[in-house]
Amino acid sequence: MSFKDLGLSEPLLKAISKKGYTTPSPIQEKAIPPVLDGRDVLASAQTGTGKTAGFTLPLLHYLSENPKAKFRPIRALILTPTRELAAQVHESVKDYSEFLDIRSTVIFGGVNQKPQAAAIRRGVDILVATPGRLLDLHNQNLLSLKRVEVFILDEADRMLDMGFLRDIEKVMNVMPAKRQNLMFSATFSKDIKKLANGILNNPVQVEATPENSTVEAISQQVYRVAKGKKPGLLIKLISEGNWKQALVFTRTKHGANKLTKKLIASGITAAAIHGNKSQAARTKALAGFKSGKVRVMVATDIAARGLDIPLLPHVVNFELPNISEDYVHRIGRTGRAGANGKAISLVSADETTYLRDIEKLIGEKIDVEIIEGFEPDPNASTEPIKQGQGRQGGGNRNRNSSSRKTGGNSGGNRNSSNRNKSSASRNRNDRRN
Ligand code: AMP
Repeated sequence: MSFKDLGLSEPLLKAISKKGYTTPSPIQEKAIPPVLDGRDVLASAQTGTGKTAGFTLPLLHYLSENPKAKFRPIRALILTPTRELAAQVHESVKDYSEFLDIRSTVIFGGVNQKPQAAAIRRGVDILVATPGRLLDLHNQNLLSLKRVEVFILDEADRMLDMGFLRDIEKVMNVMPAKRQNLMFSATFSKDIKKLANGILNNPVQVEATPENSTVEAISQQVYRVAKGKKPGLLIKLISEGNWKQALVFTRTKHGANKLTKKLIASGITAAAIHGNKSQAARTKALAGFKSGKVRVMVATDIAARGLDIPLLPHVVNFELPNISEDYVHRIGRTGRAGANGKAISLVSADETTYLRDIEKLIGEKIDVEIIEGFEPDPNASTEPIKQGQGRQGGGNRNRNSSSRKTGGNSGGNRNSSNRNKSSASRNRNDRRN
């Protein structure tokens, strides 16, 4: 199957070949035909599967083949949970529309709204947005969604995790009832299925990877280690393994900062990316990492969500996530587009329960090793980490809490008793991470 066989127009084929893609990825093969047919689509696909092109290419095909009003109302809305993902999706839209008369822009919080409002005023066919800034501008009458023909909800599961359900509902209320809807999600919880029922009309379901299973190309490894020895072990693995690039996950923003400092002190270039960093600092860290100037990027879950870093060789869980699905998301950053990747987890005694939960979810046992000099502490408790323990800046998770200022928890509530709560209630305050 080729992109041409999918029926995409010449200007799109030209852009695709300029990107260097030769064949459609599985999700593209499955999603592009029904989207071109104008059907609603519910797609299960992780970042790294090529899902962005999966919805952008048929969208561009439709918009360019069916030109409408000259004043360019917003005809397509792509909603994403994070600023980084919004920026990346917009980059893809720009790349794929290079040879078409299609205008697009991106809006998200944390930066001045004036240039964004000005771009919209000049007229755009496609708007990529995060929910907060979209509603902000809408409430100020700086944009209208009355002419939207295609609505795309990207990373719907993370949208719910971040407490965006109400915002999504508000957005739906200001769009025309008759429109095409596409929804992408890496995982399919009951909440996601409910959301899909509310948005999609007789959808075609497509799936790129089996639900909640890890990608085969990724080799997974656990190192059992004493908590205090984790930084040393990571430095040893990076240095002796001669790792060129790694994405390292910590559970908290404070933890990310602390680890970044230790890596830098040991001569490894590193940058942290999390919600307490300004948008400019986050963009700079990501650009440095992508260009290879920065060897290690230390991130919290929400900040890293959706980052497009092709062919990432190593992903490290410096701490295991307490939400097992996040493990699948995290390691999905490696082994992308067919490349082999390695996912390494440093596990201390108090993370034993998390490891068991993850293995249950992915349906396999992960290889465990112990490195001499970095043995686990035989006296450490295997009790799961309690809320607040070892965490800086409290952990107030109310909507209006000051976690941005205090460096509070960004990776999810650590209290294991909260693990089974609905993700929407759990992470409500993380929308800006
Ligand atoms: P995504 O899942 O949309 O974040 O895409 C992941 C990566 O795969 C991006 O770097 C894309 O540029 C790349 N990609 C998308 N489609 C293809 C394709 N058909 N062939 C090769 N690479 C692709």
